[in-house]
Amino acid sequence: MKPFEYRRIHGVEEIGKGDPGQARYLAGGTNLIDLMKHEIEVPDRLLDISRLKLATIENGEKDSLRVGTLVTNTSLASDARVRQTWPLLSAALLSGATAQLRNRATTGGNLLQRTRCYYFYDTARPCNKRNPGEGCSAREGQNRIHAILGTSDHCIATHPSDMAVAMVALEARLTLRAADGMERELPVEELHRLPGDHPEQDTVLKPGELILGVILPAPPPGRQIYRKVRDRSSYAFALVSVGVILHVVGGKVESVRIAFGGVAHKPWRARKAEAALLQKEATEANFQHAAEVELADARGYGSNDFKIPLARRTLVATLRDAANSVEEASA
Ligand SMILES: Cc1cc2nc3c(=O)[nH]c(=O)nc-3n(C[C@H](O)[C@H](O)[C@H](O)COP(=O)(O)OP(=O)(O)OC[C@H]3O[C@@H](n4cnc5c(N)ncnc54)[C@H](O)[C@@H]3O)c2cc1C
Ligand code: SF4
Repeated sequence: MKPFEYRRIHGVEEIGKGDPGQARYLAGGTNLIDLMKHEIEVPDRLLDISRLKLATIENGEKDSLRVGTLVTNTSLASDARVRQTWPLLSAALLSGATAQLRNRATTGGNLLQRTRCYYFYDTARPCNKRNPGEGCSAREGQNRIHAILGTSDHCIATHPSDMAVAMVALEARLTLRAADGMERELPVEELHRLPGDHPEQDTVLKPGELILGVILPAPPPGRQIYRKVRDRSSYAFALVSVGVILHVVGGKVESVRIAFGGVAHKPWRARKAEAALLQKEATEANFQHAAEVELADARGYGSNDFKIPLARRTLVATLRDAANSVEEASA
């Protein structure tokens, strides 16, 4: 293992010291430590942020909620306000990993966890994300868990976080602090990149930029559902997942938000499907049409071809469940 300096940080002002590009933040460590053991991540400095005072959930302006980056997945999923008002987020979190991991995993670390592409972890095989220019082993290899939307010739990996999918549908915003102390906000939807020519860059964060927390705005009205399709009911990443917030009035779709997980290098906001549904009757035929519109450009690479019909069916089933539960509630 490559030697590195370990330093525990007690205040965010300590972060700007040294070259931020050569440092990594240690939060729960459930992804980063594995990557360091495989020598995929080889930082010069490991900055342990786990003692920063960023583990609280507070009421914010306009009925929003401010979630500190060190709030664990368990604490966020079980918070009474989240369960009541943002159940989509709670359900997405509880569908991820296992209880032990959720107790340790943090909000910021979950968003920045890296892909589970088999070849990314197998240092004996070429991977453009690990070593730019080396080639992508997955395109012609085992790609059952890989992307069908927004891929490039250089990478077809997916982003693995369930929580991020819910946050995109909920239009959550990040609060960030750069190494020079400048703070900014960024929609979670804009955090992750598509692979393009630079699959080694997962996000738009600047080197050394720290996630301070996440702002959850008051959600739009409507039924919130997270549905995750996976190989096992626990301890498994999504093959396809979908988060839906559907508001039906008088049989018509008044508002809708949809985000997919497991299909792209980032959580995939399904804006084409949303546009196809708006002000239309909440019928099976319209749900089918919306799913077809969204997935019209989807492309499989062999072993993951099944994901295209699976994503279509998962979206239709989730919209159907949301619409039915709205009807039941108003009956
Ligand atoms: C067996 C297994 C199954 C899993 N299943 C699922 C699943 O089904 N769904 C799912 O969503 N996840 C799953 N996970 C992933 C798990 O949720 C993540 O490992 C975890 O959320 C990462 O959080 P952490 O705090 O441990 O991050 P760390 O490992 O500490 O950090 C991850 C990355 O984020 C960076 N980082 C952390 N905090 C900050 C910050 N505040 N600012 C800037 N950078 C930061 C670190 O430098 C590192 O690069 C699984 C993991 C395992 C091991
Ligand atoms: S899909 Fe991306 S992460 Fe996987 S081998 Fe190809 S370049 Fe690497």
